Amino acid sequence: MSKAQNICIIGGGVAGLAVAIGLHNKGLKVEVVERDKDWKVYHVGIIVQANFVRALNALGVGEAATKAGYAYRGARFCNASGQVIAELPGETAVDGLPSDLGLTRPALHKVLTDKVKELGIPVRLGVTFTDMQDKGDGVDVVFSDGTSGSYDLVIGADGNYSQVRKHLWPEAKPQFTGQGVWRYNVPRPADLEWSDIYLAAPNGFNGKAGYCPLTPEEMYIFAVIEEKGNPRFAPETLADEMRARLAGYGGILGEAAKAITDPALVVYRPLEACIMPDPWYQGRIVLIGDAAHSATPHLGQGAAMAVEDAVVLVDELAAKDIDAALVAFMERRFERAKLVGTSSIQLGEWEMHPESAGDPVEVTDRIRKKLAEPV
Ligand SMILES: Cc1cc2nc3c(=O)[nH]c(=O)nc-3n(C[C@H](O)[C@H](O)[C@H](O)COP(=O)(O)OP(=O)(O)OC[C@H]3O[C@@H](n4cnc5c(N)ncnc54)[C@H](O)[C@@H]3O)c2cc1C
Repeated sequence: MSKAQNICIIGGGVAGLAVAIGLHNKGLKVEVVERDKDWKVYHVGIIVQANFVRALNALGVGEAATKAGYAYRGARFCNASGQVIAELPGETAVDGLPSDLGLTRPALHKVLTDKVKELGIPVRLGVTFTDMQDKGDGVDVVFSDGTSGSYDLVIGADGNYSQVRKHLWPEAKPQFTGQGVWRYNVPRPADLEWSDIYLAAPNGFNGKAGYCPLTPEEMYIFAVIEEKGNPRFAPETLADEMRARLAGYGGILGEAAKAITDPALVVYRPLEACIMPDPWYQGRIVLIGDAAHSATPHLGQGAAMAVEDAVVLVDELAAKDIDAALVAFMERRFERAKLVGTSSIQLGEWEMHPESAGDPVEVTDRIRKKLAEPV
C-alpha cells in the first residue's frame, strides 16, 4: 500500500487538465497524453454554474475562468412566445466570484491549457495509448508514439467515447437518447443578463430551445430536439434545419434565430449518454469525467461534474493510499454524478413524451440547490 507518486492521464480535455493541475499543485508527478495533435475544441458555448466555479477555484483558475466568460443572473423558463414563467437566480458558492457563467469552449480550454503550460505539466499531443497492463502495484502503458512508461495510477479522462473505458469494460457504450442538440453563436442583446429556456416547441418539433450569454458581444442559441432514428444531416442544410426547429418562437429567441444563416457555423450533435455503475475503477486504472458518466446537457453540469471529479480525486490521492483513495473517491462522487446524469436523461424523456412529463422547473431548481452543497 502506498500513495500515488507518478500518474498518467489519458485525455487533455476538461477533466484531464483539471486533474493534472490539481495533482501537480499537490506535488505529484503527472503526464498527460492527448490524442488531438492540434488540441482544439469547437467554437460554441458551455453553460456552467456555481459548483463549477467553486471547483475551478479550488484549482486556482476560478478568477481566470470568470474573466474569460460572461457572468449572468441565472436560468429563466419561458413559454414559446418568450414570456417568463419561472426564474432560478444563481447563488454564488465563492465570495467575489459569480454563480452562473457562460463561456465559449475555446475560452475555457485556453484557461486550462494556459495553466497547464504555466505549471510546466508535460502534455504529449497527437498521442494515445496502445496497450495498458495493470500489474497490481502499478500500470505499464505503451503509447502510440512508440514510447512506454510505468505509473502508480492511470486516469482515463478521454471523454464520452473513452478508449480507457473500452479497455476496462468493452461492453459499455454510449447510447443515443433520442434527442439532438443544435447550437449557433449570435450577437448578444445588450441588456440580456439571463440564460432563457423556452419550454415546448411551437412548430411541430418535439423539444425546447434557448440561449445563454457567452461574452459581452456574443450569446449562443441551443435547440434540444427529438430526432427520431438518429438522422444524419447534409452539412449544407444545417442552418435551414436549425432555423426550422426555431420557427414560431417569439421573444428574444425568435428574433435571434434570424441570424442563423451559415451552415458551417451550426454545431449539431446527437445526444449519447453512458453512465457507468460504481466503481469507475479497476485496480490502478480509474475513469473520470465523461468517460465515467456522460449525460445529456439538460442541467448544464457535464463540465462541473468533470472538474468536481478531478478536485475530489486529487484530495483523496493526496491524503490516502491509492486503494483507500479510490474507495473514498467513489463514495464522494458516485451518487452526485448519477443524480445529474439520470435527471438530465429524465428531462430529455419528458421533452419527448410531454403527455407524461413531470415538472422540469422543479427538477432543475432542486438539483441546482443540491449541487450548491459542498461535495
Ligand atoms: C451537445 C452538448 C452540449 C453540452 N453542453 C454543456 C454545457 O452547457 N455545460 C456543461 O457543463 N457541459 C456541457 N456538455 C458536456 C461537457 O462538454 C462534457 O461533460 C465535458 O466536456 C466532459 O469533459 P471530459 O474532459 O470528460 O471530456 P472531453 O471534454 O470530451 O475531453 C476528452 C479529451 O480526451 C481526448 N481523447 C479522447 N480519446 C482519447 C484517447 N484515446 N487518447 C488520448 N486522448 C483522447 C479528446 O481529444 C479530448 O481532448 C455538453 C455536451 C454536449 C454533447
